[in-house]
Amino acid sequence: MRFKSTLLIFAGLIFTLASCSSNPYGPTNKVYKKQTKELSKVIRTKPINPSGENFVGTTNFGLRKPNYVIIHHTEQKSTEQTLKTFTLPRTQVSAHYVIGRDGAVYQMLHDLLRAWHGGAAKWGNLTDINSASIGIELDNNGLEPFSETQINSLLKVLTKLKKSHGIPAANFIGHSDIAPGRKVDPNINFPWKTLAEKGFGLWQDSILVDSVPESFKHLEALRIIGYDIKNPVNAQKSFQLHFVQKDITGVLNEEEKKILFNLYKKYL
Ligand SMILES: [Zn+2]
Repeated sequence: MRFKSTLLIFAGLIFTLASCSSNPYGPTNKVYKKQTKELSKVIRTKPINPSGENFVGTTNFGLRKPNYVIIHHTEQKSTEQTLKTFTLPRTQVSAHYVIGRDGAVYQMLHDLLRAWHGGAAKWGNLTDINSASIGIELDNNGLEPFSETQINSLLKVLTKLKKSHGIPAANFIGHSDIAPGRKVDPNINFPWKTLAEKGFGLWQDSILVDSVPESFKHLEALRIIGYDIKNPVNAQKSFQLHFVQKDITGVLNEEEKKILFNLYKKYL
């Protein structure tokens, strides 16, 4: 009997060692599990006061859902490096999904949990972007084009997210959109037009007006779309990076104002 239990312990040890060596993220997966357990405890706490006085549990509720998707590039050398960064507590950054150059998709936390990917950011009146969004990081050195394989994987993830959370097309945006002057991801090569054609994000019509009305206020239009126009040059740069994708001057020319005029009406 004693021999049998020693054998079992030994077998268990071998199994643990084997699973650790096959999955380098075994230990951080354990931390993830522990933290989700702690969060579920928070939800189970009666929220009004400790004694439960005046607490009347309603029968009608669900979980809050993300309503935005923020796309990033990692500006790192490999997926491996990004996964490592997002599993080190000291970095304080994470994303729901990481997609490799080879199209491999890694999910790092549940869609209904809050990842730390937006940082100081604003879109319209929304300031706590992390609470309202899903963060997707694309493995990229910050300058290179995105491979077709990687974009195909991204489209699959976006399709799933749009369906499960009912996210509106206009709410698929980039990190640079919500953090003008601070962030420039995803880079200028990102295929926003392709995404918009599939229903993720908006894009301008192919035919634009000959000239914008004299009364058209371009900064006001940027603000209506969602841009933080506190620094007008930075807001215009972010707009150019997303919707023009060439010379990022920070000052919209006449052609670019026509694009903006066309787009802002879609956001009204
Ligand atoms: Zn980013």
